[in-house]
Amino acid sequence: MSDNQLRLVWIYPDLLSTYGDQGNALVVERRARQRGLDVARLDVRSDQPIPTSGDIYLIGGGEDRPQRLAAERLRRDGHLHRAVENGAIVFSVCAGYQILGHEFINDLGQREPGLGLLDVVSVRGEKERCVGDVLADIDPQLGLPQLTGFENHQGVTHLGPTARPLARVLVGNGNGTGDGTEGAYNGTVFGTYMHGPVLARNPLIADLLLKLALDVNALPPIDDRWYEALRDERISAAQQPA
Ligand code: GLN
Repeated sequence: MSDNQLRLVWIYPDLLSTYGDQGNALVVERRARQRGLDVARLDVRSDQPIPTSGDIYLIGGGEDRPQRLAAERLRRDGHLHRAVENGAIVFSVCAGYQILGHEFINDLGQREPGLGLLDVVSVRGEKERCVGDVLADIDPQLGLPQLTGFENHQGVTHLGPTARPLARVLVGNGNGTGDGTEGAYNGTVFGTYMHGPVLARNPLIADLLLKLALDVNALPPIDDRWYEALRDERISAAQQPA
């Protein structure tokens, strides 16, 4: 961070923003401002270059065709790699998560190269789409409470040796591999299948992104009663028998 200003980049809202994923940008922005930070939020459309000077980059989910277009443009652009090399934090959801991996199956049924920022490979699931509420235990190394969200995807994501699972599923599918993993991370690059928006349901993940960006261990507490009410409601809904 420079000039005490947090630069938040929302990548391709015109292609990748399903199920209210834009809420993730709103949550990070608001929680940063509540800590007295000056936030410059940049929404980068798919015909614009990705800036390399961002602190936190957010990418949402998308349908299969916009997902392919987004992957093509991000590969051609090349700047997200540079941003990560500069220490940026990237948080991606669903289609965005698949794009950050080595490859995924596109809308034409072909193997589409991703950005290789996450050591994961996504294939098309043979079974029915993974749809529904999810509850999972986040990797204890991250020190976060349970992950709540909902999923809607056909893709199944396999983790390579260097990727750490973001969470272990208690309810739902997550990566869909049957090994109980959900999401992945490599260093400061995170991916999850969770919508919700996931950062509204899990505001302490937004705080983790802020702490990484600020290089601090703790942030001043804020009133999280509304978030907690939402979490309680969604976690008990996930625990109801189907
Ligand atoms: N198109 C991808 C899939 O179905 C991602 C879907 C999404 O982002 N919700 O797996």
